[in-house]
Amino acid sequence: MSLQAELIARIQAHGPISIADYMQECLLHPKYGYYATRDPFGQQGDFITAPEISQMFGELLGLCLAQAWLDRGAPSTFTLAELGPGRGTLMADILRATRSVPGFHAAMDLHLIEASPTLRDMQSKTLGDYQITWHDNLSELPEAPLFLVANEFLDALPIRQFIRDSNGWRERRVGLTDTQNALSFGVGDITEVAALAHRLADTNDGDLVEINAPARAASAEISRRIHTNGGLALLIDYGGWQSKGDTFQALADHAYADPLITPGDADLTAHVEFEPLVREALNAGIEASGMTEQGVFLERLGITGRAQALAQNMDGITLDNHIAAHRRLTHPEEMGRLFKTIALFARGTPPPPGFNPPGVNSL
Ligand code: SAH
Repeated sequence: MSLQAELIARIQAHGPISIADYMQECLLHPKYGYYATRDPFGQQGDFITAPEISQMFGELLGLCLAQAWLDRGAPSTFTLAELGPGRGTLMADILRATRSVPGFHAAMDLHLIEASPTLRDMQSKTLGDYQITWHDNLSELPEAPLFLVANEFLDALPIRQFIRDSNGWRERRVGLTDTQNALSFGVGDITEVAALAHRLADTNDGDLVEINAPARAASAEISRRIHTNGGLALLIDYGGWQSKGDTFQALADHAYADPLITPGDADLTAHVEFEPLVREALNAGIEASGMTEQGVFLERLGITGRAQALAQNMDGITLDNHIAAHRRLTHPEEMGRLFKTIALFARGTPPPPGFNPPGVNSL
């Protein structure tokens, strides 16, 4: 049996499934799921993420977290948490960069939220020297001041898609072709969708919008914890302020693929919509920075100075790669503009360094 055969049988028996259900199965099915069964990162993998491009990314996030910790009176115990740590590279760089911050390591309690057993093993190898607690879910974190990072985590959470039809919406779903032997997109009946009531104002018939319910729930849970216990969250992902248009995509071997072909063998993601994340934070009584382009954020944190310092000890191909990595992380035509960051933090506490002020969003 393959995942494709399993999905076809399920749809034959019970009808079309949402894109969210499809994503969930493709990414995290215990036997066939993309993340559950492999290490997808790096040049040899299907895609490369910012921490895998250069150590500078994690180092700067580490210094941002450490400054925010100092600005909050250096709490003597706190939870340092990461959502979806991949290979563990980002956390390793954060930990190396914060080693010289007096008291930071002694106060931290390290928690990783990771669904994939394969990637948990890899994280444990990368972070071998540290005491780590793993969780399936954010809700299992201890109640303590929370300092949290998530890079390219929210884009992997299952989205649903809806197409505007007069004053209602038709859900885009995964069904079967007429021959019943291949997966195919279709749409459901017109329904009202409460979560999309506010989008009737800025969409027209035929427009497609996406809802990432788990990302909203994550923002709500993180915000509640920050409100109760203090701390902050740094969320980095590709996307924009509000969803419009189909951004559901598959990536295999560094190229775009058809998301319905060979389910479980390609990475599936969708652009992250930041407006609902901020709305959840404000509803929970905390503050959110403006949505800030990754390139601008990294420049404000001093990536160019760090790049120059590292370049002192490099030459030849190593130096060329280093210069290319700096450009890739920050240039507007590479990751600099597509990727956005926001910080969630308690009202009345200083915003962490590098972010736009509340309400000031990059395009
Ligand atoms: N942050 C890393 C990896 C990003 S890929 C980096 O920047 O390189 C997405 C990560 O989230 C993977 O580690 C994947 O296994 C994990 N993941 C995806 N869905 C998840 C879920 N529902 N719960 C927990 N972890 C999840």
